[in-house]
Amino acid sequence: MNNKYKYPNVSIRKSVLRGKCPRCGIGALYRNFIILKDYCDGCKLSNRSIDPGDGASFFVILIVGIFIVGGALLLEVFIRPSYYIHAIIWTPMCFLLPLLILRQLKSALIYREYSIKKDFINSNED
Ligand SMILES: [Zn+2]
Repeated sequence: MNNKYKYPNVSIRKSVLRGKCPRCGIGALYRNFIILKDYCDGCKLSNRSIDPGDGASFFVILIVGIFIVGGALLLEVFIRPSYYIHAIIWTPMCFLLPLLILRQLKSALIYREYSIKKDFINSNED
């Protein structure tokens, strides 16, 4: 059987938001919060060939940096709070925002990379 029909397209929403395998949509991509599994539990897809490396970290730093620096500048220009208020607002944001978006961005890069390589990956696994 052709793998094109064996593995129907998984929606990007299911793969990215839920952290599921981009090929089968059943197996979890992550072992703990952010550590990528070696193989998918559902379809035995090796995640070594689609690991995005530090690509997601770059986008997290970029997005969080723009948000925090921009937010701090806007707050300072319009409200001018004391530096303690800035520290209370922006220090937790530096830790929470990356935790919120890192997993989704990493999943999005994995989904994109799998979408590009899927014909090659699926043809080599028979
Ligand atoms: Zn899978």
